Amino acid sequence: MRIMKFGAIAFADVLRVRDTIRIIKEQHAADPSVVVVCSALPGITDALLRAARAAAHGGEHEADIARRELWNRHRQIAEKLVTDDWEREMLFQRLSEQLKHLDRMTRAMATLGEHSARGIDAIASLGERFAALIIAVILRQSGVAAQMVDATELIVTDAHYGVARPYLEESFVRINDRLLPMLQAGIIPVVTGYTGATRTGIVTTLGRGGGDYTAALIGAAVNATEVCLWTDVDGILTADPKIVPGAMPLPELSYVEAAEMATLSGSEILHLRTLMPLASRGIPLRIANVLAPTLPGTLVTAAPTPSHASGAIISTRGLALIAASTSALPTLEDIWTSELAASVTAQLSHAGIETLLAHQSELDRTLMVLVRQPDAAYTKEIFETAFTNGYTVTVHSPVALVSVISAAHGASLTPRSMYALGMAHINQIASSRSLHGSYVSFVLPDAQVEAAVRMLHQELGFAPATEEH
Ligand code: ASP
Ligand code: MG
Repeated sequence: MRIMKFGAIAFADVLRVRDTIRIIKEQHAADPSVVVVCSALPGITDALLRAARAAAHGGEHEADIARRELWNRHRQIAEKLVTDDWEREMLFQRLSEQLKHLDRMTRAMATLGEHSARGIDAIASLGERFAALIIAVILRQSGVAAQMVDATELIVTDAHYGVARPYLEESFVRINDRLLPMLQAGIIPVVTGYTGATRTGIVTTLGRGGGDYTAALIGAAVNATEVCLWTDVDGILTADPKIVPGAMPLPELSYVEAAEMATLSGSEILHLRTLMPLASRGIPLRIANVLAPTLPGTLVTAAPTPSHASGAIISTRGLALIAASTSALPTLEDIWTSELAASVTAQLSHAGIETLLAHQSELDRTLMVLVRQPDAAYTKEIFETAFTNGYTVTVHSPVALVSVISAAHGASLTPRSMYALGMAHINQIASSRSLHGSYVSFVLPDAQVEAAVRMLHQELGFAPATEEH
């Protein structure tokens, strides 16, 4: 049994949808037990979230934009790809019911002048529902049995709207009860990603990019042979291909390596939570490209086959480094305590600010955190409130985090990386390495990222010169 999760790019336009349907049909022909998990169309979730937030402030115009966008984009695809009049009529009816639902909710928010997290989730979940409805119909039109399944029936979550956590056991039972009979009857379930529902049936979402997690949960529940995330990249690459055109996909990775990459990339590449249900059951995860479906992509497994491309450079831009430090000779009042540092990091976490790197040192009495630029001002405020008197709070922005991951380099990883950065005249603001030495990370000025990544990629041998064809 295979789980195929399609990201927004797979539904970008009529051509893409046609290709996506072909990919599903090919997989289905090879192994009929297929579950499809859908994301919303590109930009739809953002438009819905904007509409929900604006509605509460009287911005009904935004809601109107989202509603038109939702309707027009899906209608365009349906008009081209759903040729059967009856199917199209039924689809349009179901879509307009959902639109009425959106209208009712945005109007209620506008009337109340407030938006609850619960209301926002109900609205945000519509993008996936639209996508799954339409994809199921197009699949049927193309000759395979398919049926839309709302993940609110499958994934049981707590009531943390916006980032709901699933109850695994209950969800697994429901997934099997609902999907197995369909699969046995030769029907492809087309499931809405990103969404779930509480025990009392209130719609929740699993957090942005949560569709991958939905696929992993279903894969774990049915003990799938593989979960495949269909994206717009050739897998996990040795570096950002926009910076290093010769970056290559890593053929295979271990769960641990993939987890390190997920964390160091600030979840850009993959979410750690997507890996967790699969790693513990040894279910392989593939990352493949809808734009180049014949390429193998990257396979994450328990025991990867070693290859020459054994490491990667992860660069995350648009960050800010906030630091507090005292002078070398502090007065009694501003003596450094680790409790103070701990209370500041706890405050950041309570405020929902994700720190990509945190470092405290009693030796030079500093606390340093790396956050995303939009969180910088608030982080600085928290620092300035906590660290008074003799402390200086400094902000470096924009900065980037560049990490080199490679188990193969062993103890030479850090010195070779440092050497490469020296060669490229990079101004390292901070660095950190893993205890077991499998990765090293550097914070550097955003403007130097390209030079740094290119030099590291070359010096560490991630791009063999023989790869040119
Ligand atoms: N559509 C949702 C988002 O944009 C979930 C997903 O794409 O996985 O975050
Ligand atoms: Mg995604």
